[in-house]
Amino acid sequence: MSKILVTKPFQAPYHEISTEIQRAWDAEWLTNNGPILRQLENGMKEYLGVHDCAVVSNGTIAIQVALRALDIQGEVITTPFSYVATTSSLAWEGCTPVFVDIDPKSFNLDPSKIETAITEKTTAILATHVFGVPCDVNAIDEVAKKHGLKVIYDAAHCFGTTIDGGSLMNYGDISTLSMHATKLFHSVEGGAIFVNDTVANKVGSIAGQVSPLRFEVDRLRNFGHHGPEVFSGVGINAKNSELHAAVGLVNLRYADKIIEDRKRQHQCYDDLLQSLLLQYPEVPENVQWNHSYYPVVFRSEAEALAVKDGLETLGIYARRYFHPALNTLNYIHLPGVTPVADQISSSILCLPLYYGLEEHKITRVSTELIRICTDYRS
Ligand SMILES: *Cc1c(COP(=O)(O)O)cnc(C)c1O
Repeated sequence: MSKILVTKPFQAPYHEISTEIQRAWDAEWLTNNGPILRQLENGMKEYLGVHDCAVVSNGTIAIQVALRALDIQGEVITTPFSYVATTSSLAWEGCTPVFVDIDPKSFNLDPSKIETAITEKTTAILATHVFGVPCDVNAIDEVAKKHGLKVIYDAAHCFGTTIDGGSLMNYGDISTLSMHATKLFHSVEGGAIFVNDTVANKVGSIAGQVSPLRFEVDRLRNFGHHGPEVFSGVGINAKNSELHAAVGLVNLRYADKIIEDRKRQHQCYDDLLQSLLLQYPEVPENVQWNHSYYPVVFRSEAEALAVKDGLETLGIYARRYFHPALNTLNYIHLPGVTPVADQISSSILCLPLYYGLEEHKITRVSTELIRICTDYRS
């Protein structure tokens, strides 16, 4: 039996990739804010329906640059249920992560628990829209406004998710995206920063004008350069190359198809797994979800592990996304109390889901999963 992996990178027809890369070769311009990268930024703006988009080298540096651009220091309220990059970015930037529990329905930061975690040192909220399902953005916005906190969304999973018909990237002071090869939309390695200052929204349509926050992002991602010989403050190299942008530009043509295909796979799994009464993240009515992952929560950690191990012996790979909870990392000093995140993180699995995963394989995964789970329960 052939293996069924949890994910596979989307690979467009190679001739399309090579045509785009040829352009960079012919132009003899391989990196440093080149024309293909700018074309990708414009294409993403149009596809997502956002005012602004700055492509960077990966989704982790996107968070770190966002923290710098907003001058975030001190304590930052964040989620224990995300990929490690959410927490490590805070630690790397010298901020103190303060963990608040998640909502058992959305698996995202629970807004009703934020207020009690705020101290005089709190400056911001860094929340993840986990699996591409939105946080309660209105409630988070309300607490943030009340306490004068900045909001950054780690929207690494959110390419294509809309809320009330608009991009999820339009929320928070900044939203960040990962364009890593395993993500729904990718440029091999890559990330993007979406700034949402009101000025950006106003000047966005005027050619050549950027908001102060976007200006700061551009400065930070390019070593702190203001001009060829002018430096203003510390910066880093967060640029991305023309070759990565070329892959992103081609993949953008397939974004609709990729999302459609994931939706089809979700439908298959949903129908086949119904009888197990597993727990899923709840997607609100006003959200068009991108179906970026297929997470399922089992009744216990033991049940999840029985399923994971059972599938693995058959060459089927489910992943414990996201385990362990991030407040258990060995560099965390303030773990907080997060029973919901502990429970979900220990008993969740993401099932195989990637572009082109055939229906017969989904059927096989589901049949075996039902058999193992039913055995375990009896
Ligand atoms: C993938 C991911 C990141 C990191 O993105 P990279 O592009 O791999 O650096 C950050 N946060 C979350 C939630 C992710 O899943």
